[in-house]
Amino acid sequence: MNKNSLPLVYDQSQQQVAETMKAIGQPAYRAKQLWQGIYQNLWSNPSDFSNFPAGLRDQIGSTYRFGSFTIGTRQVSRDQQTVKTLFHLPDGKAIEAVLMRYEHRQTLCISTQAGCAMNCVFCATGQMGFKRHLTSGEIVEQVLYYARLLKEEGKEVTNIVIMGMGEPFHNYNATLEAIDRLNDPDGFNLGARRFTISTVGLVPAIQRFSNEKRQVNLAISLHAANDDLRSSLLPINKTYPLSELIPACREYVEKTGRRITFEWALINGVNDRIEDASQLARLIRGIICHVNVISLNPTRAYQGVGSSAENARAFCDELTKHHIPCTIRLRRGIDIQAGCGQLAIKAPPPPML
Ligand code: SAH
Repeated sequence: MNKNSLPLVYDQSQQQVAETMKAIGQPAYRAKQLWQGIYQNLWSNPSDFSNFPAGLRDQIGSTYRFGSFTIGTRQVSRDQQTVKTLFHLPDGKAIEAVLMRYEHRQTLCISTQAGCAMNCVFCATGQMGFKRHLTSGEIVEQVLYYARLLKEEGKEVTNIVIMGMGEPFHNYNATLEAIDRLNDPDGFNLGARRFTISTVGLVPAIQRFSNEKRQVNLAISLHAANDDLRSSLLPINKTYPLSELIPACREYVEKTGRRITFEWALINGVNDRIEDASQLARLIRGIICHVNVISLNPTRAYQGVGSSAENARAFCDELTKHHIPCTIRLRRGIDIQAGCGQLAIKAPPPPML
């Protein structure tokens, strides 16, 4: 039988695993053990299930796939703090995910799509176009890969930012199912507040997310405080202009009681002047929020350059004057093209099996 036709175990909820186990004649507690083996012991192979009789190990191996990626290049930044891994998908597409090491945290930046349909002009993923949505299991598998890697060093994944390739709210169900699986106390058990979803601003999805009243953090890629500029950088702004986006953000904060983050990639002379900061302050006044600025990272098809540290500081100071908390995000992994907006696939496909 072709292994690729088996369901990927990470695509299934605990309930679905339980039903499958029942269907192959196993008692319910086996489903729980399988789940714990995968998400707590981080086992990646049926043969790892030492608590199962040999016959059952064979049976789960012929019922499920325990991995769908062919691992491609793994790059480590010069400062050793950032790791980027290329994952080849069974259909020949590829994605990337990044590990960022901090003193007391290990943050993953994971992908939700191969490519992206949003076409933001300064983003390398946008520049490569949309290939396809990832399944929930493919989103989960990126986390398990790094969790296993970290386990060898006695470390754990502490935070997950859904800011890799793709627009998570364009792949809403799979993204939230993946979070559910990773958040499940019986499973990977990472607290909801440890996740951050970043969206370009798909208003109907923001509204839907607000109604779910989750504890997951939400970040909005704003980058401009007027429609002309925002539409020229983020084409989706023509569909969901600021007059719709900002009220949706306000509503999110009101419904969930959670602070929202606005992301702003500072581009020299484009959106980094003091008047840009004061226009932003006026736009988001009264919203419980936090502004995260980062100097634009270079990408192949966009000419703009990132702002200097002084301009970033001045921009932030202006926001602070308006009582808006602002932090300057440090660029990470630029030497291996692992920074924000730099994820794109250039490598050739893997050899045929
Ligand atoms: N599609 C989602 C998440 C992916 S991008 C979103 O748009 O939010 C994650 C963040 O990186 C977004 O804020 C995005 O606007 C930003 N970004 C994209 N290209 C960048 C670049 N070249 N330099 C700095 N940040 C960039």
